[in-house]
Amino acid sequence: MSQNSNQHSVRRIILPSGRTIEVVRFHDDVEHAQPGLHVCPQCDCELVQPVAWTEAAGENWELTLRCPNCMWVGEGVYHPRELERLEKKLDQGVDAILRDLQRLTHANMADQVDRFVEALRSDLILPEDF
Ligand SMILES: [Zn+2]
Repeated sequence: MSQNSNQHSVRRIILPSGRTIEVVRFHDDVEHAQPGLHVCPQCDCELVQPVAWTEAAGENWELTLRCPNCMWVGEGVYHPRELERLEKKLDQGVDAILRDLQRLTHANMADQVDRFVEALRSDLILPEDF
């Protein structure tokens, strides 16, 4: 991993079995100067998403944005440059969800293997189980 001083957050997820996994996220603060369309003006949540869009004058687009945290809804006409940034954020969100899913799947599989091994050791799995 690179040696930069990016901020990171750790989220702890407890699986049904009691096993705990930690999900570490690194945030680059390159784009913190202006909040961007993905930031809710009401609650600062960074998960604002477009729910409707239509072409507007010039190369602009009219968007309806919605915050899933506080249910804020806003409309506005935006330049493609702003939309590009929002799109990038949305893509990053999808990537983050997929990575989390992959980690969860892996952790769940590891957990099942552990339990299977434990059951074998305790003679709880017999030939007639197959
Ligand atoms: Zn909000």
